[in-house]
Amino acid sequence: MSDATAHQQRSVLVTGGNRGIGLAIARAFEANGDKVAITYRSGEVPEGLFGVTADVTDASSIDAAFTAVEAEHGPVEVLVANAGVTRDTLLMRMSEDDFTSVVDTNLTGAFRVIKRATKGMIRLRKGRVVLISSVVGLYGSPGQVNYAASKAGLVGIARSMTRELGGRGITANVVAPGFINTEMTAALPEDTQKNYLSAIPANRFAEPEEVANVVRWVSSDEAAYISGAVIPVDGGLGMGH
Ligand code: NDP
Repeated sequence: MSDATAHQQRSVLVTGGNRGIGLAIARAFEANGDKVAITYRSGEVPEGLFGVTADVTDASSIDAAFTAVEAEHGPVEVLVANAGVTRDTLLMRMSEDDFTSVVDTNLTGAFRVIKRATKGMIRLRKGRVVLISSVVGLYGSPGQVNYAASKAGLVGIARSMTRELGGRGITANVVAPGFINTEMTAALPEDTQKNYLSAIPANRFAEPEEVANVVRWVSSDEAAYISGAVIPVDGGLGMGH
């Protein structure tokens, strides 16, 4: 098997890969020839992908999902921590549960899957971890104290991981999308969407594939020397943040 073929057949796992940005990411790796698994909680597994049920708030369900993926595709070499939720409300109305539940999924959930994945990566002496954050993590957003905190925290994870595991052939990067056409943004009030549009230099929202292509590239051999980076895919919305 040539090196190029070996590279093409990596075991990739995308959390929350059954829809939205996660599905676009899974499809991008699939188009690259990789063996792609996704986690999902409900609904159907998209055609052609290996689906395992997992809830990122539950370490034992994550462990079972990884065990199933390892049996089917081998140790996970590329992990995309994509699963995420919002529970928006202004700070004065935000309950502690609104805060901790979002952090538990978006930040602690990423920690749980990373911890499980890196065991195998350390053994392989190679790996790619991509954390799907948001422009909101560093830019801030009214009504999203919980979400912004969870997404900013991912930067700390990627940078600390890079210092811990950078010498073992493992990279960890953050991809920070701006406004992407998905169910998550469709649910935003119309005036919020209009306000953001006027602040986006590209003057449009992006398609999930535009995020997926960046995730695929930062997981490629070409990006081997990029780690601890925050890569915006936001049409210029968050520049300098
Ligand atoms: P969607 O709401 O369309 O999809 C979210 C995914 O996360 C679903 O697959 C969902 O699974 C999964 N998920 C949620 N909670 C859990 C959990 N506890 N355990 C396992 N899986 C879970 O979101 P998007 O595609 O829009 O967003 C994907 C990521 O991109 C998120 O992290 C989001 O914060 C981020 N992002 C999105 C932006 C946008 O404009 N849409 C902008 C910036 C960042 P299920 O189907 O079972 O609910």
